[in-house]
Amino acid sequence: MKVEGRRIAIRGVVQGVGFRPFVWRAARDAGVTGSVRNDTAGVTIEAFGSPLAIGNFIRHLRESPPPAARIREFHAERIAPVDQPAFVIADSRSVDEHRVSVPPDLATCAKCEREIFDPSNRRYRYPFTNCTNCGPRFTMIRDVPYDRAATTMASFRMCPDCEREYQSPESRRFHAEPNACPVCGPQVRLVDLAGEGTAGGNPIASASEALLSGRIVAVKGIGGFHLACDATSESAVRRLRDRKRRDEKPFAVMVRDLAAAEAIGILGSEERQALTSVERPIVLVSRREVTELCEAVAPGNPLVGLMLPYTPLHHLLLADVGRPLVMTSGNLSDEPIAYRNNEALDRLRGVADAFLVHDREIETPCDDSVVRVICGSPTVLRRSRGYVPRPITVARPFDRAVLACGAQLKNTFCLGAGSFAWLGPHVGDLDQLSAYRAYEAAIQRMEQFLRIKPEVIAHDLHPEYLSTRYAASRPEAIKIGVQHHHAHVVSAMAEHHLDGPVLGVAYDGTGLGTDGTAWGGELLLAELDRFERLATFRPVALPGGDKAIRDVWRIGLALIEDAFNGDPPIEQVPLFRQIEPAEIRLVRQMIQRRVNAPRAHGVGRYFDALGALVLGLPRSHYEGQIALYWNLAADASERGRYPFALDVEAKPWSLDLREMVVEAVRDAIAGRTPATISARFHNTLAAATAELVRTAAHVHGPMPVVLTGGCFQNARLAESTVVELGADFDVYLHREVPPGDGGIALGQCVVADAITRKRG
Ligand code: ZN
Ligand code: ZN
Ligand code: FE
Repeated sequence: MKVEGRRIAIRGVVQGVGFRPFVWRAARDAGVTGSVRNDTAGVTIEAFGSPLAIGNFIRHLRESPPPAARIREFHAERIAPVDQPAFVIADSRSVDEHRVSVPPDLATCAKCEREIFDPSNRRYRYPFTNCTNCGPRFTMIRDVPYDRAATTMASFRMCPDCEREYQSPESRRFHAEPNACPVCGPQVRLVDLAGEGTAGGNPIASASEALLSGRIVAVKGIGGFHLACDATSESAVRRLRDRKRRDEKPFAVMVRDLAAAEAIGILGSEERQALTSVERPIVLVSRREVTELCEAVAPGNPLVGLMLPYTPLHHLLLADVGRPLVMTSGNLSDEPIAYRNNEALDRLRGVADAFLVHDREIETPCDDSVVRVICGSPTVLRRSRGYVPRPITVARPFDRAVLACGAQLKNTFCLGAGSFAWLGPHVGDLDQLSAYRAYEAAIQRMEQFLRIKPEVIAHDLHPEYLSTRYAASRPEAIKIGVQHHHAHVVSAMAEHHLDGPVLGVAYDGTGLGTDGTAWGGELLLAELDRFERLATFRPVALPGGDKAIRDVWRIGLALIEDAFNGDPPIEQVPLFRQIEPAEIRLVRQMIQRRVNAPRAHGVGRYFDALGALVLGLPRSHYEGQIALYWNLAADASERGRYPFALDVEAKPWSLDLREMVVEAVRDAIAGRTPATISARFHNTLAAATAELVRTAAHVHGPMPVVLTGGCFQNARLAESTVVELGADFDVYLHREVPPGDGGIALGQCVVADAITRKRG
């Protein structure tokens, strides 16, 4: 018989998803010999057999990969045949191979889901059922290479049945490291506030009863505790808000399945795919007019964050409850998520009425991720559980290992080594000690298990950010400060393998500039190691500094004070009827005398100000609330826009939106709807951005354009800007990496590498 050989390289999400056992079975079924191994970029297979056998083997690989795998590249080449007796799974060899072998946590697969609802199965209603296609990974791993002894499952000894599955290449549980069953694996318990177990019954069924009677239950999941309650009960959700000290910020909702999601949200195919993806993020979708959710879930908000169950425990709970549940991070307002049993009992005592806990330890806490479809593609807004620690491949390998410390809000850090950058889990706002501790611990853990010893520390320019202070405390000699918006732009460049130069549009709330002022509406001519600030927005005064970011009416006042040349129509704007006249006078003085009224360039501030002025909302109850409401108010069909001016004599060029402000306020006074005014505002920003980019391209030549910064989480702004630019430019948006400050560490990492490389 004629024997042929092939070397097959497969790239994509193919590690930690049961791919090698799948290849092994495919080889056996096709009658092919050879080997499969993980390498740094994916898996490599050597296959030997008859042309027919090899053809069948390749077809099988391409057509029915494991559910969690995603094949991005498939490359087969002929090699000389070698006489091999069998097909084997080879060990990984290098440190890099070990590093990429750490997979993210995977949502329960369809087969495991069927088993837990099958009364004849030995895993019937077992909440820790998993297989090579699904289950916890990153959050329970203590060290690399990834095997059971290096996870929090080490203390559970497999029973003979589980052991047999684990050893058998035939089984879906062949080398499924967290493999477990009711006989040998972790157990769930429902405990009260004293930590005492409730006697008898089924803990999950009892927890469901508690939820149905309006109680709040802390539920231990994959990356930490959730606080759960009945999402249809106004009183339950209000109680959760009171106890959690969270007044209006929307809660995420878990629903049983896609049909239940469709009943609440308006889903397109991209949303459906994101909801059912193995990462199982929270997906932001438009809420239907009438749903069973109570108003308190997301007050006044046309969007709702939905997710599907991603552990067997969730599946069982949702099936028992039979209605949507609020599932919000187990913490008080902005603290880090609780993830250890004792800690949760201690910290969540005042919030939860009962605790559904278990004895599988969580090694690394990891919050739920958040995704939104922007310009037709899912965009990760918070990159954490399900994505971390999947590395981002960089175009040019790191010269030296880098730790990038991130920014202040929505912090993540990033480690770069070899060809990869690993963004860490979402840490949250680094403004309190508990968050800082969690941040330090997360960095240490990740450095340890990826075996990365950074030589270069990258950080924001802002000296007060706790991430910057952390950088200063590190012993490494090389510290590189990276300008905030440069980091945003390079983060997008890195994701798309762009070397630069690019025109980087970076719009956000605030970030410290190289001149010591707050930037945030920037057009940069950017390369990896440097940038030139081509244009910025005319600054807005923030009377009272940070106070103005909560009391957004102050920014609204500053904006009209400027736009109407010191004679703003205060009496005609209903917003100001909600404010004490004495306070208005005081703030006007601050603006006019420029006392305690720092000037900032952030585009986000325009959203705050216009939202306050036109919607009549004086205060923001959480970061970005008014900006979000203003964004969501926009009428999708309105095409009108306002005038604006671009001053190209100034250096950097200055985008002046005073005329827009005047016309928008006049429209409001004339009784035009906020929907129309908001739409015109968005159209104006998009048109002004396109004008900036065109002017820059005229001077500096054509080049790719990247859109980055928190403002581009705004789908309407992103979409209209892309439409304005689309025909003339290659425009890149974030996909895998958040456009906001949660993605900035990747940019810091790559900038620091480029700078140190140049220095030699
Ligand atoms: Zn499974
Ligand atoms: Zn077992
Ligand atoms: Fe930012």
